[in-house]
Amino acid sequence: MNDQQIITKLRSAGCKVTPQRLAICKLVLSSKDHPSAEQLYQELKKVYPTISLATVYITLDILKKIGLVRELRFSDRSSRYDPNTSPHINIICPECGRISDYEAKSVKKFLDEIIAETGLKPLKQRFDLYVNCEKCSNKNKEEHAK
Ligand SMILES: [Zn+2]
Ligand SMILES: [Zn+2]
Repeated sequence: MNDQQIITKLRSAGCKVTPQRLAICKLVLSSKDHPSAEQLYQELKKVYPTISLATVYITLDILKKIGLVRELRFSDRSSRYDPNTSPHINIICPECGRISDYEAKSVKKFLDEIIAETGLKPLKQRFDLYVNCEKCSNKNKEEHAK
């Protein structure tokens, strides 16, 4: 999505587009690592020293409402933001919190099958796989070798 498309989307949602808001949108929409609001804030502060965490949250909320990002809430009350809104699998490392996407065709097929079998119309879905990432599994191995 280019700047103009983002601006059009925000305006059509009745939202005033400021340079800070646009920067927040661009950063989260281009991210692949499911950032938290805090991570986005720390990154944006380098370019926009006056930006506030509240502005980041408000903008993420707007993006959520217009369906451009999904909020992934976790049981420890943390939230991560995912610009990939199509059905996919989030591979989550429980040790370091790293999240990456796995695009599996079988997910779509699986959903279609459930919809066909039950006649249900899911409002949303979420698939999380918890797997230690390479870095963390190596660290664990080293610790066990001690
Ligand atoms: Zn990890
Ligand atoms: Zn994802």
